[in-house]
Amino acid sequence: MEAALTKQMFDVETLRKEFPILKRVVNGKPLVYLDNAATSQKPLSVINAISDYYCNYNSNVHRGVYSISLEASDAYDCTRDKISEFINAGSASEIIFTRGATDAVNLVAYSYGLENVAEGDEIIVSEMEHHANIVPWQVLCKKKNAVLKVIPVNDKGELIIDEYKKLLNNKTKIVAVVHISNALGTINPVKEITDLAHQRGAKVLIDGAQAVHHMPVDVQDIGADFYTFSGHKMYGPMGIGVLYGKLELLEAMPPYQTGGDMIISVSFKGTTYNEVPVKFEAGTPNVEGVIGLNKAIDFIKSVGFDVINSHEQELINYATEKISEIDEIEIIGTAKNKASVLSFVVRGQHPMDIGIMLDTYGVALRTGKHCTEPLMDRFSIPGTVRASFAVYNTPEEIDIFIDALKRTIKALK
Ligand code: PMP
Repeated sequence: MEAALTKQMFDVETLRKEFPILKRVVNGKPLVYLDNAATSQKPLSVINAISDYYCNYNSNVHRGVYSISLEASDAYDCTRDKISEFINAGSASEIIFTRGATDAVNLVAYSYGLENVAEGDEIIVSEMEHHANIVPWQVLCKKKNAVLKVIPVNDKGELIIDEYKKLLNNKTKIVAVVHISNALGTINPVKEITDLAHQRGAKVLIDGAQAVHHMPVDVQDIGADFYTFSGHKMYGPMGIGVLYGKLELLEAMPPYQTGGDMIISVSFKGTTYNEVPVKFEAGTPNVEGVIGLNKAIDFIKSVGFDVINSHEQELINYATEKISEIDEIEIIGTAKNKASVLSFVVRGQHPMDIGIMLDTYGVALRTGKHCTEPLMDRFSIPGTVRASFAVYNTPEEIDIFIDALKRTIKALK
């Protein structure tokens, strides 16, 4: 694989050619895709790898003794090594393929949680969590008569760490916090959060669904016990995701789902389970998803985090500057450490009306609660309009978006 690009080598127009969808015309206008926090677009390398699998070696993995099944098994298994290296896990056995971040959090809640959380224990989440990192813990607390505690958020959209410290105690069993907020873009101090939890003997799950494609993630440096993410937000396919877990924890955990592949032997007297990670991958896996995810990681590495980070920061700074010139706008989420997410409300207007109008200009962005209803309640708003930028977005697209927004506001007055 080629080395990552330098800032001098980076040409966004060349990069955009790798994404066929960016040539689309919508409502007679060029598509300006600014909903990357919901899902990113896919480069040709990912699309072609999936097509190549179906055209040339489609077969089930870990079952066949024939050539194309061995090819598929190789492609599947080597991706585990690639992901392990990508997030600096201790070994490939710590990488479990899931349907996505949601599935990964559920796995931990049902497997680790049911086994290790008892009546009166406490689980801490934050006020800025995605529903995927709230509801599984709520369900677990209900089942176990445990207590869910919530780290509050300040007016800038940052976690109040002093309040977090007060919530922690010897009853805390799990802390589950998002790395980068999908609704506000806040980058949380996950290493500090993890260290503090560990001092109380609690385990930590970090939801990295918005992080792994924006910044280098080193799970060992963070110290997280579990780290979750989804392929489709990182230039990869839908329906595939990852749970990283520390090996000793995964080994001690019971299976989440059971069936084929996750066993060593089955008889009516009893069943012995396979080793980690296969113990957690019952049934035919999403082979095309894994193969596509492999290429998505290659794509990220070929551009490199230096370029990704500096380009996305330029985009968010430019968009923030431009949008601040509009009187009716209030930006929600002004954290000091912030990724390329711009959430805002237009005073006196419902976010959905803004979104529908912007679509007529070809601008695709997200409106609503962003699966973070408690966070919207915290700011006493029905939702926001959210523009989220990826490495293929351009300042010219931001100009189109801002111009369309100004026209929309004028039209709705
Ligand atoms: N956490 C965060 C921060 C997210 O943004 C999302 C997706 N919006 C999820 C979890 C859930 O991811 P998925 O729907 O891919 O399982």
